[in-house]
Formats: sequence, structure tokens, C-alpha cells
Amino acid sequence: MPNARPANPLPTGHSAHNYHPLPVVIAAADGAWMTDIDGRRHLDMLAGYSALNFGHGHPRLIAAARDQLERLTLTSRAFHHDRFGDFCEQLAELCGMEMVLPMNTGAEAVETAVKTARKWGYRVKGVKPDKARIVVAAGNFHGRTTTIVGFSTDETARADHGPYAPGFDIVPYGDVAALEAALTDDTVAVLLEPIQGEAGVVVPPSGYLAGVRELTRSRGVLFICDEIQSGLGRTGRTFACEHEAVVPDMFVLGKALGGGVVPVSAVVSSAEILGVHRPGEHGSTFGGNPLACAVALEVIAMLRTGEYQERAAELGEHLHRELASLTGAGAVQAVRGRGLWAGVDIAPVHGTGREISERLLDRRVLVKDTHGSTIRLAPPLVISKEDLDWGLEQLRSVLVG
Ligand code: PLP
Repeated sequence: MPNARPANPLPTGHSAHNYHPLPVVIAAADGAWMTDIDGRRHLDMLAGYSALNFGHGHPRLIAAARDQLERLTLTSRAFHHDRFGDFCEQLAELCGMEMVLPMNTGAEAVETAVKTARKWGYRVKGVKPDKARIVVAAGNFHGRTTTIVGFSTDETARADHGPYAPGFDIVPYGDVAALEAALTDDTVAVLLEPIQGEAGVVVPPSGYLAGVRELTRSRGVLFICDEIQSGLGRTGRTFACEHEAVVPDMFVLGKALGGGVVPVSAVVSSAEILGVHRPGEHGSTFGGNPLACAVALEVIAMLRTGEYQERAAELGEHLHRELASLTGAGAVQAVRGRGLWAGVDIAPVHGTGREISERLLDRRVLVKDTHGSTIRLAPPLVISKEDLDWGLEQLRSVLVG
């Protein structure tokens, strides 16, 4: 049951204005539906930017969390706890890798990948001190820390947060030749999203990821895949880079790894690469805590069934067929994506992405705009076909009438 209506349902002047939420106040949620403080139900077509791949309040995840809450929540890594070993082993196995380094947020995991790649560069590859370089792609979104926004090409995210950390080279996304030209003897890694989420669900040209894999392997450079938003079932496979049969050197995971219950992120890699860390050189008070491990273990068990990946593939095909018909009707300029994930460029005559999101809110469908005229659709993978169709019907009504 939703809580009693709060005295201040919308943020007061006490909240920093670093987000611009849609004017709806959610009090409860279940599966693909969220209930606002006035009892109205809304279809969630965003799923917490893929953090809620398994929907709101999935019974398996809530049971795992509740059971763990009553036993043990935090030890810090000063002591061992009884969920940690299983978590690392099972996550490594899910990824076909050997070692796991857990953190909490996505940005922390990306920072961990950057530190790991640099350390590997100095200790294994033999790069001279402080010379290591990492190649990233224009349009990237890897989080909000000062280092990460320093290599963002989005001025809104980047401006006035300098001075920025050196050591990053930015190349166009989707262009293997440009990436090859940027590699030097000091390059330790290439860091990419296999599909750029925040940029508007940008899928690179076919063969790009495989090309990057081949190039990085031949040049002794690590390939780091940031699967924080694209991974864990969203695209119809466990990892988006599987669509090109690519296995990177490092996976960076977050969001859905915590089942929408707790923040859980991780870097997953080989023993040669993650083995560069020694006690005291990197860490996090909450990283790999018992509650996080318990929920993530359940997430991993759910992914192992393949059921969610299958749903994302099947419903995703349906979603993209329906969106293609909107393109045909002229309401939509372009649709990109894979699985249950789409970036939809709205024809400007229909308004901005924000305006479309507000009109959809009036019809009880929750989406969020990204970059002006684009809206992102990423419903929970547990959404029913009927609910998905209802949501798409609302989008059609908003755009076509
Ligand atoms: N990497 C990617 C690809 C993301 O989409 C995000 C968040 O949207 C992040 C990293 C940062 O994750 P967090 O917000 O948990 O720090």
C-alpha cells in the first residue's frame, strides 16, 4: 500500500536541482507498474535506465533481500562474509571470466576499470610511469565522477567540472579505422559501450565490436566493455557484445546487477588483469557487502535460466516492429536499438522529447527524453505483451492521434 500522502510531494528548495524529473510522485510499484501518491497507476517504460530489468519488487529478489536483511547486511571488507565467495564465483562464471572486483555504482566500477587498466599497463605491459592512455568514444556516457566527465563529449555533463584528468583520447564511435589511428604504444585500453545508451541507444555499425576486438587483441590493448546499461538481458542476450560474438577483456557491470533493490556494480575480468590489485590499493566500504551479494546472487540465478534474455528478444522484436510502423506513418524519424530497448527520434513537429514524455505521462506511461527530440524506451523485461502494446498504443495516440 502507498504511504500516506506526504506534506511535500514535490522537492522543495532544499533539493539541489541536478535533475529535472517529470511531474509525477511515485509511492509504490509492482512489476512494470508504478503507483503515484494519488493512487494512479503508470506503466514504467524506463525501468530505472535498465536498473529494473526484472521489474519492481520481483518476489525472488525481495525474498533474497529480506532473508539477508535479517541475517547480515555489512561487514566491510575488513572481514570475510559468507556470501562473498559465491557471489564472485558465480558472477565470474556468468561472464565466462575468472575474477570479480565489486563496487556499488556504475561510475565507481568504470573508475575501477580505468585504474585496473592503468595498473595492468604499468605492471604487465610495461608502459612508462604516468604515460598510460585510454581510448574512449565520442558520445560516451560512463558516469559522473570528475575523471569520467573529463572525457565526456556532452558539455552539459562536463562543463565547469575541470580541471580534467589527462590520459584519454576520444575517437568517433563506430569507426575502427579512427580507433586504430588513435592507438599508441602507451595505449592500455579501449573503453566502449557496446550500445551507447545515454546517447540515444546508438547501435554501432555491424562488425564494429568484432573489429575493435581483433584490433585490441593484436595491439596488446585491453578491450573494456561498459555493459552497465546494455548488459544483463536488456538486448536479448546476457551481454550486448554477444551479438557480435565478442568477449572483451573486462566487463563493467552495474544497474540491473542489484535488481533495482541495492546498488551493486563490478568489474569482471581475467586473473591476469584483475590480479594486478594488491591489498590496500583499491576498495570500497560498501563494495561486495552481504546484502548486495545476496541480491546479486539471485539476479545471477535468474539470468542463468535464460528466461529474461528470451523475453527481451521476443518482446524486443515486437517492439521494434511496432516502432517501425510509426516510422512508416511519419511520426518518428528514426528508431535504434536492440531487444527491449529503443531510442526513438520524434519528428520535430510533434514537439520535443520532453513534451512527448509529458503527454505520455498524461496517458499514464512513463518514459524519459534524452538529447532533445529522442525518447528512450526500456521497459522492465517482465512486462507483459498486453501492457507493452497498451504503452505503444499511447505513444501512437500521442504522435499520430
Ligand atoms: N555506464 C553506463 C553505460 C551508464 O549508462 C551509466 C548510467 O547511466 C553509468 C555508467 C553510470 O552508472 P551510475 O549512475 O550507477 O554511476
